[in-house]
Amino acid sequence: MLSLKARRKLRAAHRHLREWRMIAKALLSTRHPVDVHLIPVRRCNLSCTYCTEYDDFSKPVPTAEMLERVDLLASLGTSIITISGGEPLLHPELEQIIEHVRRRGMIAGLITNGYLLTPARIQSLNRAGLDHLQISIDNVMPDEVSKKSLKVLDKKLQMLAEYAEFAVNINSVLGSPIRRPTDALIVARRAIELGFTSTVGILHDSSGQLQPLSEEQQRIFTEIMKLGKRSYSRLNQFQQRIARGLPHEWRCRAGSRYLYVCEDGLVHYCSQQRGYPAIPLRQYTAEHLAHEYHTRKACASRCTVSCVQQVAMLDNWRHPQTREAFQPRLNSLVQLEARAHER
Ligand code: SF4
Ligand code: SF4
Repeated sequence: MLSLKARRKLRAAHRHLREWRMIAKALLSTRHPVDVHLIPVRRCNLSCTYCTEYDDFSKPVPTAEMLERVDLLASLGTSIITISGGEPLLHPELEQIIEHVRRRGMIAGLITNGYLLTPARIQSLNRAGLDHLQISIDNVMPDEVSKKSLKVLDKKLQMLAEYAEFAVNINSVLGSPIRRPTDALIVARRAIELGFTSTVGILHDSSGQLQPLSEEQQRIFTEIMKLGKRSYSRLNQFQQRIARGLPHEWRCRAGSRYLYVCEDGLVHYCSQQRGYPAIPLRQYTAEHLAHEYHTRKACASRCTVSCVQQVAMLDNWRHPQTREAFQPRLNSLVQLEARAHER
């Protein structure tokens, strides 16, 4: 029986190989989704005040339907499926879904608030073949805005450090609903200390406008970005402009290279533009992917949805978008990106 350290190393090597393959495939062809966020349950066990992506009553999507959605995404050529919510650990057969993602040759990610993690659940996620897990931590001490707090979650982080064989990323957040910006730095340092990677997301309030961070927030943002080689923060260069409230030029390929598939099985651009195009996944074809690849999104310059921007880096250098079909609702500019779990 291999030691945990050896198993982690082996799994990391295998994961990195599949990630390089995913990048090569994305560079060679633009005709498949790179990353899909898939929602198995809308319900959440928490109620962060800035969040628009949960309820307290929805039932989990039946597992058979989730497996069918995974199959449909595999046949579109998807490389990564990231399972989020609501709180995905509330799905009683989440591990079956993850196993199926891996069986169909895709990379499996999970975004959770971490509250329901136990050693047994972490080990069952190991067995299911989970590749990546992300927890977003909003503050050090719980307050009326968010209970996703280091004080509450530190035990869960220690469990992950002890048992997880998958990669763990801790996302800290800055922005107007967050009271103490220095908390983000404390969270990021703790993540690195436990051997995890760290990212930083930016929250905005409901004014509908992208607001620059304050001087103190910007200083902390830069400090987190510099944190160690283990941090993915250094990859989020576009966030430098977001942090200063500057418009950002990029080509949003939502609906094509990135999809958001809600609990009803509809394809949307992203969590912040639910309702567009809202086509059932069963009817989503290569033609839809090609159409959306070339569709310019008017919300792009003030967008803070970092997962879509990261995917777009693979294609920003090619194929200027010629269709100007999509005009978002004004309040869609809210884009509480990191608001939830940076999904
Ligand atoms: S909000 Fe951002 S990710 Fe979503 S469609 Fe607009 S530009 Fe794309
Ligand atoms: S941000 Fe996450 S943890 Fe908070 S209510 Fe929304 S889904 Fe739940």
